[in-house]
Parts: sequence; C-alpha cells; structure tokens
Amino acid sequence: MNEFSNTASKRKDKKGLILVNTGNGKGKTTAAMGLALRAAGNNMRVLILQFIKGSWKSGEVKIMEKLKPLIEIEQLGTGFIKFVDGKPSISEEDRINAEKSFKYTSDKIKCGKYDMVILDEINNMIDYGLLAIDDVINLLENKPEELNVVLTGRNVHPELIKIADTVTEMKEIKHAYNKGIKARKGIEY
Ligand code: ATP
Ligand code: MG
Repeated sequence: MNEFSNTASKRKDKKGLILVNTGNGKGKTTAAMGLALRAAGNNMRVLILQFIKGSWKSGEVKIMEKLKPLIEIEQLGTGFIKFVDGKPSISEEDRINAEKSFKYTSDKIKCGKYDMVILDEINNMIDYGLLAIDDVINLLENKPEELNVVLTGRNVHPELIKIADTVTEMKEIKHAYNKGIKARKGIEY
C-alpha cells in the first residue's frame, strides 16, 4: 500500500454510511435504536426523527429522552395515517405536516451537528406519497460527508436501495399478532 492509497482509505473510513431497515417483520425501529445506542456509546451525536408516530410516547422515546444530549429524539407527525379499504387516506393536514417535517429534517441533516441521523418510518412516508423520493435522494446525496443516516420502514423505494450502503430486510416468520395477541407495552411500543 503506498502513501496515496493509505490516504484514500482513511478518507473512505470517514465517509458516513446510509443504512436501511425494511421488510414486513418486526425489528426495524428497534434495530435502529440499537444503532443509536452503539453510536452514542462511541461518543457520536445522534438525532432520531420519528415520522408517522407522534401522538403518544413509546418506550424508546421515554428512555432516549433520558440520554439527552448524547441522543436527541423527536416525534414528527400527527399520529397514525388513517386507512380506508386497506389504502392510506391522506388528509390535507397530513400533507402540510409532511412538508413541514421534511423541511425540518433537511435543516437538521445539513446543520452538521450530528454524526448519525435516524429517520424512523420515513420509508412509509415515501410509500404513502407523502414525501417525494427525488427530494429524499437529493437530500441524502447532499448530506454532510461524514454523517451516517439510517432509514426505516416497510416497502423501501428501489432508488433508496440503490444509493444505500447497507440494506436489511426483516422478514416475518411469525408474529404474535397473528394469533390474536395485541400489541404489548415494552415489546411493541
Ligand atoms: P419494532 O418497532 O418492534 O422494531 P418495526 O419497526 O419493524 O417493529 P413497524 O412496521 O414500524 O415495525 O410496525 C410498528 C408496530 O407494529 C410495532 O409495534 C411492531 O411491533 C408491530 N409489528 C411489526 N411487525 C409486525 C407484523 N408482522 N405483524 C403485526 N405487527 C407488527
Ligand atoms: Mg417501525
């Protein structure tokens, strides 16, 4: 290895990664929270922005709030999107809120304060047509170089798979919900 390749590999080490957790199985958000802990344990500054959820506090929000300023967590969004006949029914309020949330996310990503930004459930926002894939790709392509970005949610857009470094699909083998066990505090939220 010559001096030049050594420098290049060092530069490569510093480049932030884009990671995606997707799929229909459980564990996308909780795996992202695990990454937040791992990063914060290594003195990295972490920001978690949660899309969609927002009307109540999950266990991860309650514990992450205690880890401030190492980890900051914010819930964007007005709550769950309504579904009619299995399809998302998007209100004008949802659209206005999505636009605001995206502007906020852009500012946070560009501000340079963080080493890792987690965009929880952003894939769903794209899937529902609440965020334009081109805007998200553009934001990621122009992010601060060393920033790591983690995106979660079902039905990841193929364009995101293309630009991501690590993509993991959680695949459902079984879920307690299917035998009638309702979402449990401490397990599901
Ligand atoms: P978690 O938040 O537990 O890591 P997730 O992020 O992979 O799960 P989401 O698709 O965001 O799951 O779904 C949100 C909620 O639905 C969570 O409470 C999760 O436990 C639950 N859930 C996840 N997968 C399934 C499934 N296959 N069937 C029913 N409920 C599920
Ligand atoms: Mg999730």
